[in-house]
Amino acid sequence: MSKLKEEDSGNNIDKALVDGFGRVARKLRLSVTDRCNMQCIYCMPRVVDKNDEFGSNNNNNNNNAIAKRWLAKDEVLSYEEFLRVSQIMARLGIEKIRVTGGEPLLRPRVEDLIAGLSKIYGIKSISMTTNGLYLGEKADLLKKSGLQSVNISLDTFKAGRFKAMCGIDGLHKVLNSIYASENAGLNVKINTVVVRGWNDEEVVDFARFARETGHVVRFIEFMPLDGSGIWSPDLVVSKSEIISRIRNDIGDIETSGIVAVDNNDDKVNDDGSAPAKLYSFTDGKGTVGFIPSMTEPFCTQCDRVRITSDGRLLTCLFENPGYDIKNLLRNGKTDQEIANYILESIRRKPEGVVRIIRSKALKPTLNLMHTIGG
Ligand code: SAM
Ligand code: SF4
Repeated sequence: MSKLKEEDSGNNIDKALVDGFGRVARKLRLSVTDRCNMQCIYCMPRVVDKNDEFGSNNNNNNNNAIAKRWLAKDEVLSYEEFLRVSQIMARLGIEKIRVTGGEPLLRPRVEDLIAGLSKIYGIKSISMTTNGLYLGEKADLLKKSGLQSVNISLDTFKAGRFKAMCGIDGLHKVLNSIYASENAGLNVKINTVVVRGWNDEEVVDFARFARETGHVVRFIEFMPLDGSGIWSPDLVVSKSEIISRIRNDIGDIETSGIVAVDNNDDKVNDDGSAPAKLYSFTDGKGTVGFIPSMTEPFCTQCDRVRITSDGRLLTCLFENPGYDIKNLLRNGKTDQEIANYILESIRRKPEGVVRIIRSKALKPTLNLMHTIGG
């Protein structure tokens, strides 16, 4: 089925998602649920809803943790609402959409949303970030619905540590989902949040995994977006430290001349807009990436905006509460009125985490990653 053409869609909305620092938004993340079937120590708040099937899985006794109830069903945007706002934003210049959460595969029939997104004129790629627990069984269906790539989160190869870090016995399911996604023809990347004292001793194993499988493993610096309240600067393992460990144990990696090409043949690491800085082994075998948000923040090149599961537009990961789009969607506003509100909100996009770092204001739980989706 052909995509809905812009000229067929009625309103003529100006394309200008430019903020006050001159950055242009081209990528949109949709956090389709705040719920999750894991409780990663760097992400999830302490869930207190005793009636919830995941609440009983809570083993986080940190007193700094945010106590949290899942959003009620009617507080979360419907697929129709996500599709409408995505269509409006595509007409404003958004080109790539990532579906995330919480855990996006907990949302029933998320493939319907993917299929709808893939029909939006102007959208060149649709990807998903998932913890992989349910991906094995859904990879084929998602691919057929229009999903092109998946980022699968995996922080350890040790089953006991997996349980300690993610609150569930899931290592084998996640490993299987990597192979299932590969077989389904999805482009696969691995996201690894490195937390000192938890999994940093495995960074070299992850680099070896990248060499053996050909999948890019992206090491992510731990950001203070933890509902658990454990973040501290000491727990952040920097990109440069990880590079030294890899060089010492395996061999040299270098960044020069590396241009990653995504499934749309777009260069993703030479235009400064991709957060992952890619490094390849000089023997030609394997590529790793780094998302050094804490030690080399990339705010000046940020080209992404987010819609939370409860319908707020966040122009920055560190923005809170953001802008209430749900209210507009549910109160009869026209596409043009919503577009105007989005344009105005994005004009006010803050400088980003660089400013928080500069003013020495980093502290745990500056925002909640599970509501934003990364
Ligand atoms: N549940 C899915 C998953 O885990 O892949 C999608 C949502 S998760 C919030 C998106 C990404 O954010 C994951 O790769 C996760 O590892 C990463 N993440 C979560 N909390 C983080 C934190 N405090 N600092 C850095 N990355 C974080
Ligand atoms: Fe869930 Fe993903 Fe957060 Fe882990 S990182 S708790 S899997 S939302």
